[in-house]
Amino acid sequence: MNHLLSIEDLDRAAIERIVEQAERFAEVSDREIKKVPTLRGRMVLNLFYEASTRTRSSFEIAAKRLSADVVNFASSGSSVEKGESLKDTVLTLSAHKPDAIVLRTPWAGAAELISRWCSAAVVNAGDGKHEHPTQALLDVYTLRRHLGEISGASIWIVGDITHSRVARSNILAFQKMGAKVTVAGPPTLIPRGIEALGCEVRYSLEEITGADVVYALRMQRERMIESSLPSLREYVACYQINARRLSARQVLMHPGPVNRGIELSGEVIDSPRALITAQVEAGVVVRMAVLYELLAGTPERNPSQAPEPQLA
Ligand code: ASP
Repeated sequence: MNHLLSIEDLDRAAIERIVEQAERFAEVSDREIKKVPTLRGRMVLNLFYEASTRTRSSFEIAAKRLSADVVNFASSGSSVEKGESLKDTVLTLSAHKPDAIVLRTPWAGAAELISRWCSAAVVNAGDGKHEHPTQALLDVYTLRRHLGEISGASIWIVGDITHSRVARSNILAFQKMGAKVTVAGPPTLIPRGIEALGCEVRYSLEEITGADVVYALRMQRERMIESSLPSLREYVACYQINARRLSARQVLMHPGPVNRGIELSGEVIDSPRALITAQVEAGVVVRMAVLYELLAGTPERNPSQAPEPQLA
């Protein structure tokens, strides 16, 4: 694997390989000294053009636990504010010879584009409403740990499907793992033709009792145009996941950040059925596994500094 741009590029075996590697790295996170020398001498550049709490911090922690050097670049406060383009920024920062570039932008397709401009391994950490593959991988990891087996599970993804990169990556990943995926939400927030991805569509939550997993999404107001913005009161009344809609046998997931009181009620966020904190924890070990998959044992990316791949 040269880059991680989309879940479409991964088959089930590749997803399982990354998740199993993450399971091995989970042991490192429980140690007193949470570090292995696997990527010593390698450099990871985190290039973020959009806000991020979980993804950015967990990529940084993941790279540091693997002993890589990390450079964090946020577009605000940089020459991007003086008008420097994405291409010129990437070419400029490539002069520092990063081995991997972790990129988040509001533009669909940007990660694929920069993979053509530089020799670093590119990880898509969210490109507009297109994809967020590491979120899907950490969700597969979390569910495998919780359910044991994803194959055969019924997973409902609820909310703003249209503007969510998480929805797209997760529909693909969950289905590759053998789950049956249903997307549900108001018609204005479900793209026409989404069934082509293999999922079912529901415009009400009447049948949500049949789900094993309820995966709620944030309303992506930053990507909405006026006409797709539903009334929040109406949305809450029809689609909020609350104690009335979530049964004791179901588990609840959300990629964060949560808008408490909108897509989820406070009581379900704080209930033992919520796996939201486990998802954040999984972010570090899964991103370690992704960096390991891309960089360990690829001396051609940086021949003078190639370390022997090793776990401990
Ligand atoms: N954190 C996720 C993303 O960046 C989900 C969200 O922002 O709602 O796509």
